[in-house]
Amino acid sequence: MQYPEFKNKHIISTKDLTKKELGVILDTAVRMDTVVQTQGFSAVLPNSLIAMLFLEPSTRTRLSFEAAAQRLGAHTVSVSDAGSSSAAKGETLADMVRVVAGYADCIVLRQPYQGQARMAADCIDIPLLNAGDGKGQHPTQALLDLYTIRKELGRLDSLKISLVGDLKYGRTVHSLCYALMPFTPQLTLCAPPELGLPRDILDDLKNHNIRCTLTSKLEEALQADVIYMTRIQRERFSDKSEYEKLKGSFVLTRELVLRGNKDIVIMHPLPRVDEISEDVDGLARAAYFRQAHNGMYVRMALLALVLGGDIP
Ligand code: ASP
Repeated sequence: MQYPEFKNKHIISTKDLTKKELGVILDTAVRMDTVVQTQGFSAVLPNSLIAMLFLEPSTRTRLSFEAAAQRLGAHTVSVSDAGSSSAAKGETLADMVRVVAGYADCIVLRQPYQGQARMAADCIDIPLLNAGDGKGQHPTQALLDLYTIRKELGRLDSLKISLVGDLKYGRTVHSLCYALMPFTPQLTLCAPPELGLPRDILDDLKNHNIRCTLTSKLEEALQADVIYMTRIQRERFSDKSEYEKLKGSFVLTRELVLRGNKDIVIMHPLPRVDEISEDVDGLARAAYFRQAHNGMYVRMALLALVLGGDIP
């Protein structure tokens, strides 16, 4: 099966994706999940070369993209550290992607500046997947979050979802807000006052009639179908004393979980620092490691779709 409407599409922000497109991506990821479980590999993209440009630290996103590419039979070339690339010599991102676009068929890009993924995509005519642009967006994470919610709960519509932690700098939260919007969730936004959701995203949610409750009490966030914990984003603070003041704001313990909604699904984009204590890991509803595994299927789906592969 092929989806020509996805061929050569840049994936920059979940704001750009319709409910129908989200459905195609999630359904394709289900097929990729089956491919991996039954065959391990499938030659969907045997003649493609994918460039991974990671100019900011990454473990899951980079490795799951690499694994996804290889499971589809594609080849990869990669930069995994800005210091070892010509960025360290002062090369602009625009020049770097223009050069790499001459070597590869698709670029997966992570870099530290909000908005620069779109700028880079505008410089090239091969598809670019934004793997995180500073405190902006992280659309492929939000897609795997949607996939996980659907897999854990069997549906996406009208769920009560709590987003907890650093909603200001957490790009996964920004992307998830837009990815959830077509499914009319009820959101509880739980953050210290200093780390609330950016005003523009809050306005967009309100304009789409999404009910948002703002709180700084973790107990309130536990009355939901899903609780999505996030790390305080230390690297985004210009004032480190501000980070020291806010770190450890929310710690989800087993005892707290057991006092909340008994069926709540616990998610986290990882890495965790101390937001979820390790005694939560053994609970059946702790979904964060399953969530990370789902990333590979979703990234297989995205690569196959934007490169026009024949979906098995
Ligand atoms: N891994 C996620 C990201 O790259 C979440 C995090 O770093 O806290 O945004």
